[in-house]
Amino acid sequence: MTATRRVPKKSAGAFAVDAGATFAVVTPEPRQVADLIAFVRGDPSRAFAQSYTRDLNGKLRVSTGDHLYDTAGDPLLTITGDDCGVHDIMFGPCTGWMLTDRPTGEGRQDEPGGCRENLAAALEAVGVDRTVPDTMNLFQKSTVTDQTYFDVRESPAEAGDAVGFRAEKPAVVAVSACSAKGVASGTTLTPIDLRVPDGTAVRVASVHDGVGVDERGDANGNP
Ligand SMILES: [Zn+2]
Repeated sequence: MTATRRVPKKSAGAFAVDAGATFAVVTPEPRQVADLIAFVRGDPSRAFAQSYTRDLNGKLRVSTGDHLYDTAGDPLLTITGDDCGVHDIMFGPCTGWMLTDRPTGEGRQDEPGGCRENLAAALEAVGVDRTVPDTMNLFQKSTVTDQTYFDVRESPAEAGDAVGFRAEKPAVVAVSACSAKGVASGTTLTPIDLRVPDGTAVRVASVHDGVGVDERGDANGNP
């Protein structure tokens, strides 16, 4: 049995899963990017390693059947299903300077932070005191041109698209609903849903005001 927990727009949620457990990240609205990180539970020095995931898969896109590797080069998560099929493993999470200094098409976002800060806050809520590593940018589409330059394109995610994962080790996972307005997610930011094993508590956090994260940091429906 699974339960659905909502990560409000511009926030992040963190949860623990057992080895062998499955979960999914779902975008309830079209075109919403989500950033995902994970750590080995009990040994958070071993984190999702974006660079080794590129290296060990030998490609810039991962999808069903591919592993997300940790810093020791061991599979940490496996993608078990993928409605969207397009995700980036090239970028870090959006963060304060990025959302302050970069134009978005409708001016500049003046934000206290972005996915990096929200993921850090969600990790803190589940007791993981670690620097946020580079993320898997779910539902984000970039294209490398001329084997040199990359362009971020509009997210192709459709409403209800889900990406399923299986934990290969006991893990702590954190997922943010991206805070960056722009080419990828557009100018209307939306939530992300997490389908987690029944009984899984998801702690949510945000550095943004007015996004629906209460003081307790409980995702709606937590046990
Ligand atoms: Zn972001």
